[in-house]
Amino acid sequence: MTRHIALIAHDKTKPALADWVAAHQAALGPHRLVATGTTGAVLMDRCPGLSIDRVNSGPLGGDQQIGALIAEGKVDVVVFFIDPLSPMPHDVDVKALTRLCVVYDVPLAMSAATADAFVAAGLFARG
Ligand code: PGA
Repeated sequence: MTRHIALIAHDKTKPALADWVAAHQAALGPHRLVATGTTGAVLMDRCPGLSIDRVNSGPLGGDQQIGALIAEGKVDVVVFFIDPLSPMPHDVDVKALTRLCVVYDVPLAMSAATADAFVAAGLFARG
């Protein structure tokens, strides 16, 4: 089954998400990937073979756009590597996005350990 996967990372965690996506490129490739603007650019630079739709940058409404996709049932899994140690101008948007993941019971990984668990659980397996 093709899944719709949202990929987002705050600036300090973008390298970690890029590493994670590169490590799981083969598993992610067959799925529909959507990312916030800057995250998407970083990921496409690191993994040119992946096709990634991009919405706005997070602080410019991208998190809300991903939230809207969740509300419309168009996102199946969210991998959002947050930076827990920096204040964010768009903190309310981040909270709204994570809240909608719970409202719609969409699996949400906020760090590599949970994202790895999603892989191990077969969330990105096809068939
Ligand atoms: P960005 O947004 O990918 O455009 O940096 C992510 C975020 O800050 O939510």
